[in-house]
Amino acid sequence: MNDIKQLERNTFESFKKVKSDILLLNTESNKSSKAISRLTSENAKLHETVAVLSQKVADLTNALKHTMEVQQELIKTKTKSSTIIKEVPVIKEVIKEKKVPVVRTITKTIPAKKTSITYVASKTGKKFHRTNCIFAKNIKPKSKITFKTKEAMLNKGYKPCDCVKKY
Ligand SMILES: [Zn+2]
Repeated sequence: MNDIKQLERNTFESFKKVKSDILLLNTESNKSSKAISRLTSENAKLHETVAVLSQKVADLTNALKHTMEVQQELIKTKTKSSTIIKEVPVIKEVIKEKKVPVVRTITKTIPAKKTSITYVASKTGKKFHRTNCIFAKNIKPKSKITFKTKEAMLNKGYKPCDCVKKY
């Protein structure tokens, strides 16, 4: 009798142990699947990060490509501008040569206008002249005096030269 009861008790204890083991396994399994799902989500996040980083790398590569293209373009432009700079002196000389006659015409025109309104006399002389008169041209700059009107010359006591009377 005792043996049977002991056996029953043993069996019951065994079942109890198995049941608790199963429960424990269940808990462990739950924990594992939670860990797996967490790992899966982390893995997905990592994939996203990798994708973002890959995009950034691609962008940087593109930017680098673009920079290199710009650099090459700059080098080309530099080469072109150095060619242009070399050509500039030639162009400038051409302009200078063309400008010179124009400048001469202007310098001739200005005194011509002045002669019509300016009279000159020597401090030591008695007559006054138009600036284009041969006598006027012989007056040394140091002793030369100029006036805008005949009246001013007459007031100073100068007599008009023939070159003044003609006009
Ligand atoms: Zn004169």
